[in-house]
Amino acid sequence: MPEVPQVAVFDTAFHQTMPKYAFLYGIPYEAYEKYGLRRYGFHGTSHKYVSQRAAEMMQQHMSNLRIITCHLGNGSSIAAIKYGRSIDTSMGFTPLEGLVMGTRCGEIDAAIIPFLMKKENMSIEQIDEYLNKKSGVLGISGISSDFRDLEVAAAQGNERAQLALDVFAHMVRKYIGSYVAVMGGVDAIVFTAGIGENSPTMRSKICTGLEYLGTRLDPERNKVRGVAQRISIDGARVKIFVIPTNEELVIARDTKSICSGLFWGAENS
Ligand code: AMP
Repeated sequence: MPEVPQVAVFDTAFHQTMPKYAFLYGIPYEAYEKYGLRRYGFHGTSHKYVSQRAAEMMQQHMSNLRIITCHLGNGSSIAAIKYGRSIDTSMGFTPLEGLVMGTRCGEIDAAIIPFLMKKENMSIEQIDEYLNKKSGVLGISGISSDFRDLEVAAAQGNERAQLALDVFAHMVRKYIGSYVAVMGGVDAIVFTAGIGENSPTMRSKICTGLEYLGTRLDPERNKVRGVAQRISIDGARVKIFVIPTNEELVIARDTKSICSGLFWGAENS
């Protein structure tokens, strides 16, 4: 089908606005030049969609808002979106960096890798699998990567399930705090993806202690699952939202605008 345009929408594209000082790692600059080793970030289509929806729900323009979007699913990432542009995000060169996830370790001391490889006599493939498939809340709890299982187990008194949930909530709060600092404040916090949309317990756990920012969760509204809704109390300076993500819609919209450009180009060439 030679006349049908082929469009690729990259999950990293939304984060291309990150400044260099936010995407560079503290390793020799040559690694960035030679191999493109830098933070790229992922879940870009999701962060873009939910931040735009939050602005719509606040009846404000993105250019006036500092939004922290928390995409919490099997893979999880957080983004700092200042005046419509992603200026930092928790995933990096690969989706392994940042938050503790279902089975991914998230941020760790890089020195753990050679330490474990030596101690456990692991190959590169084995350590890769260990960090991507056996770590995260699965590795901490020893039970499951699924937060539904962990919440049930924790409620039944399983300490490691509780610990895994505590580690996760602590890291999300840490990232929220750091993104408030890099944006010089925050106007809205958005929860999305499997956990963000469906777990009132986790949302409440994360938001407890964030009141100093000028926000307060409304316990009644926080009962919502899978529906776009503000869950902070009326009048809170910082709004908190649950917004189901819609990555397909962003891909369709991006495809449409790219194709319009292509057709415009073809007609006018
Ligand atoms: P996602 O990757 O966005 O599809 O999210 C999948 C993850 O969301 C699952 O592995 C669960 O950990 C989590 N999840 C889905 N539903 C719920 C729920 N009702 N309560 C807690 N976690 C949930």
